[in-house]
Amino acid sequence: MSEVARYAVRDGVAVITLDNPPVNGLGNALRAAILEYLKKADADPAVKAAVLIGSAKAFSGGADIREFNAPRLKPDLPDVNDAQDALSKPLVAAIGGFALGGGLELALACHYRVAAPRAQLGLPEVKLGILPGSGGTQRLPRIVPMAEAVKMMTTGNPIPAEKAKELGLVDEIVTGDLLEESIRYASGLVKAGRGPRVLRNMPPKLEGDPKAFFARVREQVAKESKGYPAPLEIVACAEAAATLPFDEGRKQERARFDKLVQGPESKALRHMFFAERQTSKIPDVPEDTAVREIAKAAVIGAGTMGGGIAMNFANAGIPVTVVDSTQEALDRGLKKVKDNYAATVAKGRLAQSDMDKRMGLIHGTINLGNIADADIVIEAVFERMDVKQELFRKLDGIVKQGAILATNTSTLDVDRIAAATTRAEDVVGTHFFSPANVMRLLEVVRGRKTARDVLATTMKLGKRLKKVPVVSGVCDGFIGNRMLEKYGQQSLFLLDEGASPQQVDRALQSWGMAMGPFAMYDMAGNDIGWEIRKRRYQERPDFVYSRVADRICEQGRFGQKTGKGFYKYEAGSRKPLPDPEVEAIIDSYRSEIKVKTRAITDDEIVQRCIYALVNEGAYILEEGIALRASDIDMVYLTGYGFPPYRGGPMFYADGVGLDKVLQSIREFQKGYQGAQWKPAPLLSKLASQGKRFNG
Ligand code: NAD
Repeated sequence: MSEVARYAVRDGVAVITLDNPPVNGLGNALRAAILEYLKKADADPAVKAAVLIGSAKAFSGGADIREFNAPRLKPDLPDVNDAQDALSKPLVAAIGGFALGGGLELALACHYRVAAPRAQLGLPEVKLGILPGSGGTQRLPRIVPMAEAVKMMTTGNPIPAEKAKELGLVDEIVTGDLLEESIRYASGLVKAGRGPRVLRNMPPKLEGDPKAFFARVREQVAKESKGYPAPLEIVACAEAAATLPFDEGRKQERARFDKLVQGPESKALRHMFFAERQTSKIPDVPEDTAVREIAKAAVIGAGTMGGGIAMNFANAGIPVTVVDSTQEALDRGLKKVKDNYAATVAKGRLAQSDMDKRMGLIHGTINLGNIADADIVIEAVFERMDVKQELFRKLDGIVKQGAILATNTSTLDVDRIAAATTRAEDVVGTHFFSPANVMRLLEVVRGRKTARDVLATTMKLGKRLKKVPVVSGVCDGFIGNRMLEKYGQQSLFLLDEGASPQQVDRALQSWGMAMGPFAMYDMAGNDIGWEIRKRRYQERPDFVYSRVADRICEQGRFGQKTGKGFYKYEAGSRKPLPDPEVEAIIDSYRSEIKVKTRAITDDEIVQRCIYALVNEGAYILEEGIALRASDIDMVYLTGYGFPPYRGGPMFYADGVGLDKVLQSIREFQKGYQGAQWKPAPLLSKLASQGKRFNG
């Protein structure tokens, strides 16, 4: 007897129940069990119809992605689908919750589908860089109009039961007990003399000339697919469904699936999928660590970050009190929050009633005494150690015992901040990224004394706030900004040597970065980096940076906010325009340092900037600042606009080959400012052993 599925016969209806929690993933054991029970139902003359049902939450979440990396195990899903097609009795899928990917393919190979109102049906494979590989691309457009089928498959977005009913994907929405209703439905089919309705035998739902239709669709999808191959491969499969016999279409689908699964984009996206699930695993903090209750929050500082952080709490339904030192700063901050929500309402992405509810959860005060009962306090005041220490000293005296005291510092030593209190074990870093209500990354900085349950609670809270929480140890810049400093260093050295800001930006953007470094500095404000560098010049005598960035700042060119930075900006526009004045500043700096300029290739630009990230990432890994290479990848993917199809800097380096990366770094050591390149011992070690960062 199988443990992952059950079989029973009720009133002449065979009921095959998928029981493979949490999501009825279609691993090998479940596939084999379904196949076995389908045969059993077919062979039993007392059985007149069959129902395939999952749990209330999940009909099935689809394939087990881990199996993609291994040789295909039999029976595979197409084998199961063939048996469904061949079943001599009507087969009904009873969809209680989600039917996704292989789960929907399983439902599509059933002859009829009934669904609970809360069901969600979708083919999200495209999000992992692949396509529905078990007949989904062939069956869906035989039941749903082709244009809708293509939309579902190329966006990967699921549709609710009601919409599925409208499109014909679901035959009936049932509101009572799903099992009882589906048995009733199946018995009804038998009574009405309706036999199997096999989708593979039905014509595709496309009216008009397929050629013209697919030319149009291809053009549209190409525009939206941003260089990812999967969406266009899906369109090709859909075209095969419209123009070829089912089995031919299936063959094409299989071949295209195999190609995509082996391709770098899908490998990177799958890496990202697993990496995201890894970040909350902390070796010495077991998953069942008891967490503290977070029912009330406070944020100190109503500036750029504080406002966004407060929105996160309100969005998650957690009441939050925002504190600033003056009424004026507080009012300004809260007004920004309100304007921000109002803009979302104006765009139709938030209901006015939801905005009101969220604003109702945000309270302002200038009296620290009002946050004594908060379960977590997040400090987002000026980036100065003395200011932060003074504040934490005060919080220690005010806030109830057991509360978590968190700091949003981007560069300061969390241990020194914690030392200002008598409860360092309750102090943790929560490094949000700007804009804090939008960016998914949350670096959770574990201080030397941070208690395990404080860490576990903060990680869990991060997920509640819909962030990707990644643990970082204490160091200057934590994971993300420490690496960014090396990236920035190279981007500026490239200017010294002859590249222009626009060439560097163009090279990195066409490689896949969401934004080039100079456009990014201009957006963030050049003065911020300048302040940090000024401190570094004092604190770290070995700190070498091209002074060209300082020259830009000395001219008051702070970026978008002053209309000028590494680019110029027309009033009201964020579009970076090349500026001859910048060229002159760079030229004059080059003469000052007497560097001989040369033509620099885009390849070199990309390698120098990206390998600078990789090399620093290797130090971070080796020092234990990051728990695993995939955490570093997640930081860059969710906080720094790193292209998902490249899987993060460490995964990318693995793909290039660490020996090759090391070789290039050794070449860079011979070039301009070569002494700044110090290959990380971990990189050298792994390269010599032919190993990878990501296992
Ligand atoms: P900001 O200057 O916009 O806001 C700081 C706010 O704190 C101001 O409203 C100020 O009035 C208030 N404040 C200062 N001292 C206070 C005190 N003692 N009590 C109460 N309120 C006080 O600064 P920001 O950009 O929001 O940065 C805040 C923190 O977040 C800093 O530590 C910064 O390094 C960090 N951070 C900033 C960014 C960013 O992109 N801006 C990103 C990540 C982290």
